[in-house]
Formats: sequence, structure tokens, C-alpha cells
Amino acid sequence: MPEFISPEMQDLRSRVESLLVELTELEITEMDNVNLRKAAIAKSKEYGVFQLTQPIEFGGSGAGPLALTIARESVAAANSSMGGFVLGPDPGFLRNLTGEKKATYLDPVMQGEKRWSFAFTEPSGASAPEKQTYAIRDRDDLIITGSKSFVTGGATADFFAVFVNVEEFDGVTGGPAMVLVDSNLSGVEITRSFRSLEGGSHVELDLDQVRVSNNLTVGDIGEGMPRAMSNIGEERLQISASACGMGIWTIKHITDRLNAAHRSGTRLSDREGVRLRYADMRIDLYAARSALYRTARLAESGEDVVNEAAATKVLCTEMIGRIVDTAVQLAGGQALIEGEALEQMYRRVRSLRFAGGASDILRLSIARGIFDFNSGRV
Ligand SMILES: Cc1cc2nc3c(=O)[nH]c(=O)nc-3n(C[C@H](O)[C@H](O)[C@H](O)COP(=O)(O)OP(=O)(O)OC[C@H]3O[C@@H](n4cnc5c(N)ncnc54)[C@H](O)[C@@H]3O)c2cc1C
Repeated sequence: MPEFISPEMQDLRSRVESLLVELTELEITEMDNVNLRKAAIAKSKEYGVFQLTQPIEFGGSGAGPLALTIARESVAAANSSMGGFVLGPDPGFLRNLTGEKKATYLDPVMQGEKRWSFAFTEPSGASAPEKQTYAIRDRDDLIITGSKSFVTGGATADFFAVFVNVEEFDGVTGGPAMVLVDSNLSGVEITRSFRSLEGGSHVELDLDQVRVSNNLTVGDIGEGMPRAMSNIGEERLQISASACGMGIWTIKHITDRLNAAHRSGTRLSDREGVRLRYADMRIDLYAARSALYRTARLAESGEDVVNEAAATKVLCTEMIGRIVDTAVQLAGGQALIEGEALEQMYRRVRSLRFAGGASDILRLSIARGIFDFNSGRV
């Protein structure tokens, strides 16, 4: 446990841990998946955990970055398939919607009645800017054409937040914009559904002259990039917290395995070479958790952590890649049998170095922060 966290935060960590123990017991009952999910959400609400991600105006507790970090790390450290039900939907970058847009998009998302997906990444063939998703103006409408290559949860989304370049027209300035696009509109087509290594489901999306009102932008036309990225620091901190939680689980798991009897007659934990590898894992996790909690505390005190969240995400996601790889090596070939806990962990961690920004792109952005904006801490 990180030192000097307040008694309230320690209590939160204990509550999340107890909740996960209860949910793991629920999982072994004969309940079907729908009822299991409902029961898990009800139990999480009872523990006051589900509400952490939700703003107070939506009946949540509006937890800050430190509490969310502790909760997400503890959920991941339990490595339970019930972990995905524990935290409620959070508003993400839709949080500042007002009026009709709030009523039609944000409110139903927060009440669990609508789902949405983030459609940002372009297909790799669309390298030329003119081939990227664009919109032309037609009176009060935008007509959107293009495609998106990696839209998580897109198959069940009621609407997409789509990043488009609005073309300049008749003297009216264009620019990047985030546009809300209902999935049932004419011209919206899912062209491919696929799963990634960690088990997530995603789609490729085609937009063929899709007509939407130009009111349906998140922020103004021209503000697309800052809007799309407005939640990115938080998202990177979330991913980092999950990576550290997975690291805690992995180290506990491999410690038990190394302490168990081995066919050689000597526990693997008694071999010096194994101890060196094992110590490296602990050093890696210690450094990553130190960065995670420093960044969470800076964010909690209202500091801008754009560079620190990027650095933390690179550190934590690369750390978990190394740790799981070493754990597999020390556990031996049995660890790679399909369905084994480490085999599953190995699959889950790889995507973390892409989602929320590929590692090298984040490195570039950290360097840019200091060289171009004189911003960022060490
Ligand atoms: C599990 C998962 C979920 C995802 N969910 C979503 C989602 O919901 N919505 C969405 O829009 N996207 C999503 N993505 C896509 C994700 O955002 C992208 O994979 C990521 O941003 C990298 O983009 P890319 O895959 O197109 O790689 P590319 O941009 O083609 O880059 C490939 C590699 O090239 C190198 N590279 C690229 N550009 C540079 C540069 N300028 N300088 C140096 N090196 C460079 C880097 O090593 C990089 O990793 C998801 C991805 C994963 C794995």
C-alpha cells in the first residue's frame, strides 16, 4: 500500500477489496450473466464503489483522481472477471454537454440507458489528410464522410463521438470537430467487427454522407482536438492504475508459485538467479506505483498533469508488459496453457501500450511539452 494515504482512502481500498471478494463468491453461483451483472452492480452500489466515477449531479460521489486511482488499482489487483461491473459509467469528455445535447446523449449514458463509443483512429491507409474523415456544410447541417478503424464497443453503441475535419465553406472557417452521430442514421455502417488480444470487441465504421445537425458538436468547430483530448489525462491515469493493479496481482501470483515445491527438490525462490529476476519485477512495480501516486496527488490538487499522466502511462504500461513476461518465464511453460491465469494476464496487458496513446507517441508528446511549451516535471 502506498504510504501516507488518509484513513478515508485506506477505508476505500479495503471496501473495494471486500467487494471483490464478495463478487468472486457470487461468480461461482449458478447465476446467468445478465443476473450476475445486475447483482454485481447492486452490490457495488451498496459498497459505495459504483458511484465513485459518477458526478454528484448524477447521484454519484464524484470521487477525485486519487480515490479513483486507488479504486481502479484495487479492482485490477483482484484480477476478477467481475471487476468490469464494479465502477459505473463515467461521463468522459461528454461531461460539459448542456441543454438538449445533455438530455439526449449524456443523461441516458449516465442512467445506463444508452451506450456510446469514441471514433477517432483513422484506418492506416488514410494517411493523406484529405482522405481522413471530413464534413462539408450544408446550411445548418454537416455531411460526414470517412471511416474509423478501431471503435471499441461500436457494435452496441447507440451513438458515436466522431472526430472529423470540417471543411471551410463560403468564407466560414472549418477545422477539427467532435461530432455526435447516432448509430441508426442513414450512411452509418459497421463494416467489420473484430476482437483484440485482450478480449475487447471493436468495429470498423464507415460514414457515407451522414447528415447531422451542426449543433451536434462537442464544443465548437475548430476545437475538435482539445475536446477529444480533454479527458485524456484522466484516461491515462486510469490505464496506469489498472496496470499497477495487474502488477500487484502478478507479483503475488508469482511469489506463491516460486515458494511452492519444485520438482528439482529446491524451491525456485531459493535460487539466486530467480531472485534477481524476481527483484527486478518488484523494483519495476515500486517505481511505477510511486509515479502513479505522485501524478494522482498532483491531479488531486488541481495541477495540470498532461505531461506527467503521459509519462506515468508509458512507465506503468511498459512495466506491466515486462513483469508479466518475466512472471511467465519464471513460472515455466505451464503458465502458457490456455486459460491459465498468467496466460490470460499476458494477453490482457499488451493492448495497454496502444489504448489512450501509443507509447512512442506519448514520448514525443512529453518531449514536445518541454521543448515547445516549457512544461512538464521530472
Ligand atoms: C484495445 C484497443 C482499444 C482501442 N480503442 C479505440 C477506440 O475506442 N477509439 C479509437 O478511436 N481508437 C481506439 N484504439 C486505437 C488506438 O487509439 C490506436 O491504436 C493508437 O492511437 C495508435 O494508433 P495506430 O494503431 O493507428 O498506430 P499508428 O499511428 O499507425 O502507429 C504505429 C506505430 O508507429 C510509430 N509511430 C507512429 N507515428 C509516429 C511518429 N510520429 N513518430 C514516431 N513513431 C511513430 C509508433 O511506434 C506507433 O506505435 C484502440 C486500440 C486498442 C489496442
